[in-house]
Amino acid sequence: MIRTTATDFDAIVIGSGISGGFAAMELCTKGYKTLVLERGRGVEHGDYPTAMMDPWDLPHEDRVPQEEITKHYYKQDRLSWWVRQANKPWINKDNEYPYQEVERFDWIRGHHTGGRSLMWGRQCYRWSDIDFEANKKEGIAVDWPIRYADIEPWYDYVETFVGVSGQKEELKQLPDGVFLKPFPLNCAEQHLRETVAAKFPGRVVTPGRVANLSEYKPEVHKGKRSQCLSRDRCIRGCPFGAYFSSQSATLPVAQETGNLTLRPNSIVQEIIYDAATGKATGVRIKDAVTGEQSAISARIIFCNASTVGTTAILLNSRSETFPNGLGNTSGELGHNLMDHHYGMGASGTLPGLGDTYYSGRKPTGFYIPRFTNIDEQTTKKDYLRGFGYQGSARRVTNAPDGIFGGALKEVIFSPGAYNLRMTCFGEMLPYHENRMYLDFDKTDAHGMPLITFDAKLRENEHKLREDGVKCAVEMLEAAGCTNITSYNNATAPGACIHEMGTARMGRDPKTSVLNKWNQMHDVPNVFVTDGACMTSSGTQNPSITYMALTARAVDYAHKQILAGTL
Ligand SMILES: Cc1cc2nc3c(=O)[nH]c(=O)nc-3n(C[C@H](O)[C@H](O)[C@H](O)COP(=O)(O)OP(=O)(O)OC[C@H]3O[C@@H](n4cnc5c(N)ncnc54)[C@H](O)[C@@H]3O)c2cc1C
Repeated sequence: MIRTTATDFDAIVIGSGISGGFAAMELCTKGYKTLVLERGRGVEHGDYPTAMMDPWDLPHEDRVPQEEITKHYYKQDRLSWWVRQANKPWINKDNEYPYQEVERFDWIRGHHTGGRSLMWGRQCYRWSDIDFEANKKEGIAVDWPIRYADIEPWYDYVETFVGVSGQKEELKQLPDGVFLKPFPLNCAEQHLRETVAAKFPGRVVTPGRVANLSEYKPEVHKGKRSQCLSRDRCIRGCPFGAYFSSQSATLPVAQETGNLTLRPNSIVQEIIYDAATGKATGVRIKDAVTGEQSAISARIIFCNASTVGTTAILLNSRSETFPNGLGNTSGELGHNLMDHHYGMGASGTLPGLGDTYYSGRKPTGFYIPRFTNIDEQTTKKDYLRGFGYQGSARRVTNAPDGIFGGALKEVIFSPGAYNLRMTCFGEMLPYHENRMYLDFDKTDAHGMPLITFDAKLRENEHKLREDGVKCAVEMLEAAGCTNITSYNNATAPGACIHEMGTARMGRDPKTSVLNKWNQMHDVPNVFVTDGACMTSSGTQNPSITYMALTARAVDYAHKQILAGTL
């Protein structure tokens, strides 16, 4: 029996997205009566309005009229390709969810059950010790309090449940995982793999590692899952549960235990702190529909409202003990804001494969892991860290715009060249000066102080970008591409949608907010296991790491509770 206190719940989880869903599942299966508070509307699994629509069912050929973008998505669609009719139901309207920018920050998100687990690109890559050791080796920011060995078994654990397809490559910078069979490279991607390996040993083109079930194993893929049909319509929500989301995977398992209470439309405004016990006692929430405010108590609290959401709640949780935000004696809360940065890469035409054929679609293309600054031979003089690439090859004739009927049929049935494209994802260093904070003089419609961003790419990022573009071009050249074009667009943090770092983990309470178990140094019954906890950004898409840290932190909290120390 775990319940020992007279609280409303044993545990509260703030946010029902990728990390919140995982926290809820782990807590519920361990026997904790768990309340998940989600500020957005409720969305049941399968309640995905565009999922079964064909291209001709989507208004304006899937495009969103400019007037609508200007009115509702003026920040969300700064990349001007991303808000479509197909995924619009999942994207916040900027006029309803305002924020301020000292420097431009593209904060892209959706408030609803499942958060961005419904919207994500599903790419899953482990971190290595090259990432965990970098800050210490280079004297940047603070040292990570963990190493790969600390998280490795938790990667195994979450990957097994999530279902990650991929190919083993035995790379020190990108450890292999527990993989389902890969979605294989098509012939043009395979050609790129071979020609790049021949010319640039150390650069590896591998099938993207994605949380789509290339194989369905009911004994481990619990929840509402089934095998991926390769419809390639993941951004709409998958009624087959073929990719990992809170709705398809973690929340159903949590629900089955009978321990889950999921409460949408519940905006957590602050965490309540009791100076007498030195612990948090619960949270104060506001109902997004009725406006009613209430307090709910729990023994432990997991913060999973996403990096910025969590940090805003903590900064808003002010008390006599913590006048600058809960657990902020270090002064680091809100600082060290990072993202990956992209908007640079290259594309080209690959001739010579006209007699080749591939069947159907797939939910991922290729991945090229980082290859600079991983050892002495690959050390760069002008920048630290590195970059990876995501890309794909498609027949140029696959999806021509603007033609219909017989003419379309004729074009798509004709063989032809492939278009190869690769987008570079760069690491961003953790700068103390890059930060978010609350403007207490201005509030949103729910009375919450406005979140304000003041972060930018700096010299290291710009130098790295130049090399990322150069290397992309030389790999396309090695493949024999023609018509190569490269780009290095002006971009801002946030655009890569991997924001992290604002309540970092560290060894020293004076310079970090969380300890090595994602537990607040200052307030031991509060855990932060979303991206706010990250001490550096790596180059890999981060969500699988958030999940591994979440499962690890719940396990730790559980053991502490059983031992009577929490
Ligand atoms: C288009 C797109 C592609 C992506 N591709 C990838 C990828 O390929 N690989 C990868 O690793 N990552 C990817 N990401 C990023 C990934 O989605 C995030 O890293 C991940 O969802 C973060 O998980 P989270 O639990 O921290 O936050 P989220 O999943 O964003 O969930 C946070 C939840 O908290 C709720 N919330 C916020 N504030 C409050 C509050 N005050 N009270 C109550 N609830 C609150 C939100 O409504 C939301 O539901 C992508 C994201 C997008 C949008």
